[in-house]
Amino acid sequence: MSTVSTEKEAVPNQNETTQNTHQPLQVAKRLEKFKTTIFSQMSMLAIKHGAINLGQGFPNFDGPEFVKEAAIQAIKDGKNQYARGCGVPDLNSAIAERFKKDTGVVVDPEKEVTVTSGCTEAIAASMLGLINPGDEVILFAPFYDSYEATLSMAGAKIKCITLRPPDFAVPIDELKSTITKNTRATLINTPHNPTGKIFTREELNAIASLCIENDVLVFTDEVYDKLAFDMDHISMASLPGMFERTVTLNSLGKTFSLTGWKIGWAIAPPHLTWGVRQAHSFLTFATSTPMQWAAAAALRAPDSYFADLKSDYMAKRAILVEGLKAVGFKVFPSCGTYFVVVDHTPFGLDNDVAFCEYLIKEVGVVAIPTSVFCLNPEDGKNLVRFTFCKDEKTLRAAVERMKERLLRK
Ligand code: GLN
Repeated sequence: MSTVSTEKEAVPNQNETTQNTHQPLQVAKRLEKFKTTIFSQMSMLAIKHGAINLGQGFPNFDGPEFVKEAAIQAIKDGKNQYARGCGVPDLNSAIAERFKKDTGVVVDPEKEVTVTSGCTEAIAASMLGLINPGDEVILFAPFYDSYEATLSMAGAKIKCITLRPPDFAVPIDELKSTITKNTRATLINTPHNPTGKIFTREELNAIASLCIENDVLVFTDEVYDKLAFDMDHISMASLPGMFERTVTLNSLGKTFSLTGWKIGWAIAPPHLTWGVRQAHSFLTFATSTPMQWAAAAALRAPDSYFADLKSDYMAKRAILVEGLKAVGFKVFPSCGTYFVVVDHTPFGLDNDVAFCEYLIKEVGVVAIPTSVFCLNPEDGKNLVRFTFCKDEKTLRAAVERMKERLLRK
C-alpha cells in the first residue's frame, strides 16, 4: 500500500541552498525557528535506512471498506464542487450526533460545529481566529509540534508547563501561578500525544475551575478519544460551566485509520465558533466535499466498530509494550493514543536525539525523540516515543531487531 507518509518529502534541509537557483531558503520571521517537522524527517530517514517506522503516527493498514465505499459513491454521485464553508450539513449533523453519544453534550450542528481540513487546521483556525498578538496561551509539554508553530503565527506568547514522568500528572499549583491577567487560553491534549496519558477527572476539574475563575478559554485536542484503553476519556466541554469556554478539536484520521483524508472539526459555542469560522474561511474556505460525505457515514458506524478498534489497538499495545520491556527499556504506561513512551537511558546514549539516530542507523527501527515536543529540550532528553499503529507482524519485527541489535553502551 502506498501512502504519502512513505514517500520522500520534497523538503530541503535547513541551511541548504536550492539546487537550481542557489538561493538561500527564505521563510518569514514568525516561522524561522521551526524545522521540517520531526515526523517528516524521521519518515524520510526510515526510507533511507530501510528502517521499520514506529515513528510517525500513521497506520500501515487501511481504513474500513464501508467508509471508502461511501467516498467512492459520493464522487460518483457528483458531490464534487465546493462544500459549504462550515461543512456539508450532513457531516455537521453526524459530528453533533457523535458528540452527544460520546459526551452527553447537545450541540447545534449549524451554529456550533465547523468542519476543517484535519485537526491541524482546526487548531490553526482556533488560534488564528481567537487569539490576539501578545495573548498568553498555556501549553503542557511535551506537546504536539503544530501547537507552537500555530501559536507563533498567531503572535501569541507561549507559557509552558512540563508534565513529568512517571505519571505525567498536571501540576495544578504551577498552572495556578502561570495564569496571569493576560492569559487568554490553555491548550490540552487528552488522550495525550506523545505520553499516552489520559487526563483524569480530577485534573480536568482543577483546570476547569482555574479557567472559569480567571476567564480563560480551553482548546482541547481529542483526536485520540476513541483510543482510551485503561481509563475513560472525558471531554472538557462536558464539565459544568465549561462548554461556553471550550473549543473541542477532533478528526477522523485516527479513529478510522484514514490519516490522509484530513477531515477534522471544531465544536464550540456560537460566540467562539464565529472566530474559528472566520479564520477557517480564509485558510481553506472549505474541505474536500466527497470526503465529508464519507466522514458522515463513518461517524455513524455501529458501536461494534469502535469496540473492535479499541480491542485491536489493545492487542497491538500489548505486543509493543511487552516487547519493549523485554528489550530492556523502562516503559511508561500508555493509557490511550497509539503511542508509548520509554526511557532509553539504560542503553547509554547521550540524549533522545542521539538514541533515535543510533536506533535508525544501527538497529533499523524508527522512534521519535520527545525533546522536539518540549520548549526546553532537556525535559525530553531521556524519553523516546514509539507508535503501535502498525500491523502485528511489523511490531514483532521491530521488537526482534531491537532484541538482536540494540546493545547497551
Ligand atoms: N500526529 C502524528 C504523530 O504524532 C504525525 C502527524 C504529522 O506527521 N504531522 O506522529
